[in-house]
Amino acid sequence: MEATTLFFECPLSGKSATTMIDRRPASDPTISVLDSGAERGDGVFETFGVIKQNAQALDPHLERLKMSARLLDLPEPDIDELRRIVKTTAAMTGPTGEYSLKLVLTRGGPGTNGRPAAWIVLSDMPDYHTARTEGLRVILLNKGYHSSLVAEEPWLLFGAKHLSYAQHMAALREARRQDSQEVVFTTADGLLLEGPTSTLIVRHGDRLLTPDPGLGILHGTTQRDIFAHCENLGLRGSYERIGKDALLDADAAWLVSSVRMSVPLTHVDGVEIKRDPDLTEQFNAFLLNRD
Ligand code: PLP
Repeated sequence: MEATTLFFECPLSGKSATTMIDRRPASDPTISVLDSGAERGDGVFETFGVIKQNAQALDPHLERLKMSARLLDLPEPDIDELRRIVKTTAAMTGPTGEYSLKLVLTRGGPGTNGRPAAWIVLSDMPDYHTARTEGLRVILLNKGYHSSLVAEEPWLLFGAKHLSYAQHMAALREARRQDSQEVVFTTADGLLLEGPTSTLIVRHGDRLLTPDPGLGILHGTTQRDIFAHCENLGLRGSYERIGKDALLDADAAWLVSSVRMSVPLTHVDGVEIKRDPDLTEQFNAFLLNRD
């Protein structure tokens, strides 16, 4: 499928409904160079996995988008209307295959009439089969803030899924320089955080641990679905404040996210860690078939 962009007037809470206004190839966009998202990364977004024409974890993504918009002081988007637009867009994909649906709201620019600029990019998912089965080498990178900063300085937008991902992309380039493919961030006081585009889960026996979202990281929709499902697999999930040793000593560890699903980790800073291929397969079978 050719990647497609759909521009629309951002539906706002309490204002009249919107309609799709412009559909065009993603290679032919119409975003102003003065748009605050393009100029400053000042906006929010969500990326949904689309399988069998269904945008997965629809409401958790939309709720997080609303929360991100609130944290950035953007006008409140009309979630019911956005749900309708996302569903309509997901139905444009093929009945088979995996797709990515990225919904973006920026602070706007010329021509958006004081509303956020809003668009969706719909594209084929890259083939993640190899990463899902063979796994990835990660490095730990210090994000440079002490865990206490999250409560002290909320204006720093901790926990918002905003567009300013340059630092996260730099982290991935640093990983490649260090013969790895992925990153797990840590706080300055040594607590594990998340990947640049994913949530960390580690298994210790029958427990699945993930870093506490209160550490200023995204509360992942994929991780939440795994935790909701894991009792069926004889596991229980919990949010924790954990350090590097919890990763090195884990019985298995994964980075999970909406499009890649569940990817096992093989090495941390060059040190091999344990893997659980059966559970990885079970996670991905579940994730690929959920609503
Ligand atoms: N953390 C960050 C920084 C992310 O960018 C993402 C997804 O893009 C995630 C976690 C995982 O979130 P989700 O499972 O909702 O895709």
